[in-house]
Amino acid sequence: MAVVDLHVHSTASDGEYEPAAVVRRAAKLGLAAIALTDHDTIAGLPDAIAAGAALGVEVITGCEFSVAAHWGEMHLLAYFLPAEDGRLSAYLEEQRAKRVERAWKIVVRLNSLGIDVTLDEVMVAADGGAVGRPHVARVLVARGVVPDVDAAFRKYLGWRRPAFVPKNLPPIAEVTALVRGLGGVTSAAHLKDRATRSTLRKLRAVSLDGVEVRHPMHDEVTARRILQLVEELHLLPTGGSDWHGDGQEPADRASLGELGVPEAWLTAIQELHQQRISPSEAVT
Ligand code: AMP
Ligand code: FE
Ligand code: FE
Ligand code: ZN
Repeated sequence: MAVVDLHVHSTASDGEYEPAAVVRRAAKLGLAAIALTDHDTIAGLPDAIAAGAALGVEVITGCEFSVAAHWGEMHLLAYFLPAEDGRLSAYLEEQRAKRVERAWKIVVRLNSLGIDVTLDEVMVAADGGAVGRPHVARVLVARGVVPDVDAAFRKYLGWRRPAFVPKNLPPIAEVTALVRGLGGVTSAAHLKDRATRSTLRKLRAVSLDGVEVRHPMHDEVTARRILQLVEELHLLPTGGSDWHGDGQEPADRASLGELGVPEAWLTAIQELHQQRISPSEAVT
């Protein structure tokens, strides 16, 4: 049975490997397809798609958006986005600008704690990609402030830690509408125990298409429970490793392709995408 991975990061956001290197790794592992789902950008896709064409790996144009849920921040994966769309580019550009602003606020917080880091260093660590806390964490490691990235999150950058700055998040419906309008398909990422029947119903009511069932933060029991709900509510199951690279990873990460997501899940997403881009066919 062919295996795919529908949640993967590269240097276009906070991953460690260049998009083409991610695809080379997928080819070596014999994966049939991957979705590159960088945070707030699709800039890694052209290189990934070119590498995929050369190596026989299907590369799906994905993205991981951050949106507001009733509990706080939720991540929304999107699949089959158009490579070029003015509205989507403008939206993503705005989110990335907000990321820079937030990185600056985090740096100011760290400075007030007596830690000598600059926004410039953080931006160099991001190397043109969508900047996030992992880049700040890598600077803190390089400066010897903390021993590793995990410690940077535990001590300073994580939820309720002294340098935590919340994102300014759009409502879910804004992003699901944008993605759907472009023929794309959405999935709520790593919901863990928040994937209750009532929450999934609410999310479905704001045009969510799918739910991430397999994810390194979901144990077997959680994944089985979410899959049952997804089937009951006629949502689509998705899954992926959320791979960011090999080093400096917390224990609840998986390696690329490790979750053995069946190709049939991708086929169902693709069919929904096809219906959306050719609605006349769906009617006749
Ligand atoms: P941000 O988008 O700036 O809020 O950063 C969130 C990203 O940080 C997530 O997508 C993960 O890639 C990463 N992350 C979160 N917690 C940890 C951790 N404990 N160690 C390493 N990376 C983490
Ligand atoms: Fe990330
Ligand atoms: Fe995420
Ligand atoms: Zn992710």
